[in-house]
Amino acid sequence: MNVRKRVRCHFKGIVQGVGFRPSIYRLATKYDLTGFVQNRSDGVIVEVEGAREALDAFITDFRTNLPPLASVSEFSQREIPVSNEERDFQIMGSIDDTKADVHISPDIAVCDDCLKELFDPGNRRYRYPFINCTNCGPRLTIIKTIPYDRINTSMTCFPMCPDCQREYEDPFDRRFHAQPNACPVCGPSLKFLDAQGNLAASDPVQSAIDALLSGAIIAIKGLGGYHLAVDAQNDEAVRRLRKLKLREEKPFAIMVKDIEQASRLARLNDEEETLLMYVERPIVLVVKGNKDIVAPSVAPGMKDLGIMLPYTPLHHLLIRDFKALVMTSANQTDEPICIRNREAVTRLSGIADYFLVHNRDILVRCDDSVATVHAGWPRLVRRARGFAPKPVTLREDYPEVLALGAHLKATLCIIKKNHAFLSPHIGDMETPLARDFFHENIALMKHITQCNPPIVACDLHPGYYSSMVAGTLGASEVIAIQHHHAHIVSCMAENGLSGDVIGLAMDGIGYGSDGQVWGGEVLVASETDFRRAGHINYFLLPSGEKAIHEPWRTATALLSLAYGDDWQDMAKKLAIITDYQLLRMMGKIMADRINSPYTSSLGRLFDGVASIIGLRREVRFEGQAAMELEALASHMESACLPYTIQKDDATLILDFAPTIKTIVEGKLAGRSQETLSSLFHVTLIEAFTAMADTVRKESGLARVVLSGGCFQNRFLLEGCVSSMEKAKFEVFIHQRIPANDGGISLGQAVIAGSRIKFKRKQP
Ligand code: ZN
Ligand code: ZN
Ligand code: FE
Repeated sequence: MNVRKRVRCHFKGIVQGVGFRPSIYRLATKYDLTGFVQNRSDGVIVEVEGAREALDAFITDFRTNLPPLASVSEFSQREIPVSNEERDFQIMGSIDDTKADVHISPDIAVCDDCLKELFDPGNRRYRYPFINCTNCGPRLTIIKTIPYDRINTSMTCFPMCPDCQREYEDPFDRRFHAQPNACPVCGPSLKFLDAQGNLAASDPVQSAIDALLSGAIIAIKGLGGYHLAVDAQNDEAVRRLRKLKLREEKPFAIMVKDIEQASRLARLNDEEETLLMYVERPIVLVVKGNKDIVAPSVAPGMKDLGIMLPYTPLHHLLIRDFKALVMTSANQTDEPICIRNREAVTRLSGIADYFLVHNRDILVRCDDSVATVHAGWPRLVRRARGFAPKPVTLREDYPEVLALGAHLKATLCIIKKNHAFLSPHIGDMETPLARDFFHENIALMKHITQCNPPIVACDLHPGYYSSMVAGTLGASEVIAIQHHHAHIVSCMAENGLSGDVIGLAMDGIGYGSDGQVWGGEVLVASETDFRRAGHINYFLLPSGEKAIHEPWRTATALLSLAYGDDWQDMAKKLAIITDYQLLRMMGKIMADRINSPYTSSLGRLFDGVASIIGLRREVRFEGQAAMELEALASHMESACLPYTIQKDDATLILDFAPTIKTIVEGKLAGRSQETLSSLFHVTLIEAFTAMADTVRKESGLARVVLSGGCFQNRFLLEGCVSSMEKAKFEVFIHQRIPANDGGISLGQAVIAGSRIKFKRKQP
């Protein structure tokens, strides 16, 4: 018997502009079903009718073979009465609705089908740098407003030629409703300009290749902004770029042709290979190989190298002539990436020798994302191109909140129902340009989520730019959130946790509830509240901010913590301070606490230890000393150094003074930096496990959440996970959200949302 039935399906998530409807259409036709598919403001509706078996097969088939860019966040289906009136299956037009609840797709690397066409001399898009289809290409970065239709993107000024139009309208074509669809006849084009912005050559791609080969610095307009590119094998060119970009030592990312080339430069494991090939194409931090293929100045003093594969058609055209290209965001240090042609020529004058530009506007700035593999899983360090604005799905609905993040590595976050939308990485809020970009992003995020939250969350630090503007955004309520509580809850949110946990926030610095500078915190935390169960013993940060750039100052403070009045002898013996004047001055600064706050920061402890063992007195960027100290930690020492855990009222104080003493003795006895660094790491791992264990005994809690910038340290993270799992803890760590301050906005948003929710429940 042939039983007919009709089913109505509702798909939510990234389901529009990604080839969703044509896939449904092709499949429905294959199974001989009638009905329709339609875009709506809250997703895609499909009604299908036909033989019961065919219908079931259709649904299974579709759900297991989603179009590559689609991401279904919610799916529901129900049986409805059969209609018996349709002859075929149809794609219906979109219902126009301004209250859209459809997610915008991130930008995705050019797909294999498009690549094949790009290098096929017979194809009409042969070597066309803007080739794309529904499965690949720009999305977020070309959006002016929603819904995502061509007229609402920067492609609107390129009317399609008849050939492109035909593809766009054909449900069986790969470019059906591909909004950025274009070809050499109708689409955007490249130009090659000299340093003054004048047209310099007629064949832009070849001219750029020639210039790069001769050692020139080229500003290349990409997907989410400009890169500065040089030949990574040309040491002189790389050093010149460093000098002009005022970036003395921070490593540069490089781009290589393919995975084979990547494995010549670095020792890749399977997970790293997979991560490099993600359609999001992040920069992946990997361990350098033995052979020096790239110039030493690319990543001086680092064990790691940041590698990415090409992701735009233009990259593919350029990279073939090079073993590797340095591709660094085109900006002055600390400023947001540059996106407009004229802006590029102005801001990059004096750096770039040439400009490779095009006339498709970038409407949303989006830096390259950065990822790494730790403990066997990919982890994001910087979340931007390819990932933003894909939401994090939360375990429950929350009131609408806008969270402003912290000060460094800032991002924004908007919560709408059970989705948290994070902005692309904004960067350090130090310059007027970065602050403009911050406001651009507030407008962008409100726009693409179609949401203007009445509640704004910010950091507890009253001096942060983001905290100062929080009150000016027209919110009905501003909620200030403690920095490390936000760290822990960001990790809870991405792991779907609720209720009390033991949170270890190991970090640079953040404003504490007691007004001190926190950064090595053990919290008992939930989504709404926290208690500071313990922390690393306070030590002085001599001259505050200055100590961040000059770790020898912190080293001095650690010596005074460990040796009391004898610190001067030790500072002399270790050659941290050799001059009498300086010794006296430091003595005065520390005794009178001139501009010198107390801190419990693990990041600063790392700096100080790095300086004590003679790694470096000064750093060129925050975290440099800590990264170098990590690079030295090569093996698990079986014994750890002494430390103490004491109780001050109800708070546990983790004191590393005995550890510092032993490290100093080791250094003076001539033990190697590698050994001392390994011992220091192992001691931290043991001490943190012991702290968690003490809190577990008091509270009965057995879930540990690890967050904060220090958990980007692979040795520390993997060591803590294995040691705590061995101690029968359930351990949760970051994956899709950065452990550093890039994740703060998510934590802030969830805490503010749950506090409001909690308040509303009270009578
Ligand atoms: Zn494609
Ligand atoms: Zn065309
Ligand atoms: Fe932090």
